[in-house]
Amino acid sequence: MSLKYCQGPDCHTYTTQDRLKGTKPNKTYQTRRRSRMYYGQGNFCDQRCMYDWFETFGERAINHFGRTTDAKHLREHNAWVKDYDWRVNADDSHRYYSLNKITREQRPLTEAQYNDTSYTLNER
Ligand SMILES: [Zn+2]
Repeated sequence: MSLKYCQGPDCHTYTTQDRLKGTKPNKTYQTRRRSRMYYGQGNFCDQRCMYDWFETFGERAINHFGRTTDAKHLREHNAWVKDYDWRVNADDSHRYYSLNKITREQRPLTEAQYNDTSYTLNER
């Protein structure tokens, strides 16, 4: 089990007891270190640290990875999303379907298709 540090640039400045480490007289508030974190793809200990990162680096990150400079369009050919109705079948199972957000058309899905993240009706 490897521990990793929260990537929040100000994590160490939040004075919670769990961040206070070391022995007197050398105690310091330190960046949180965990085996598992649940924010920002496992890089941040909480939402505040995630937003701190974006405040500090977001502008540069967007410029680096490509800024959106034209409107994207949701059209019939790429408007399919997956959804399900909770336990509506006689056997208490869910009813899975693809829904077109433009036309409102529904097409049935198997549970396997629903769970397959690469399966889509959208055209690339
Ligand atoms: Zn943090």
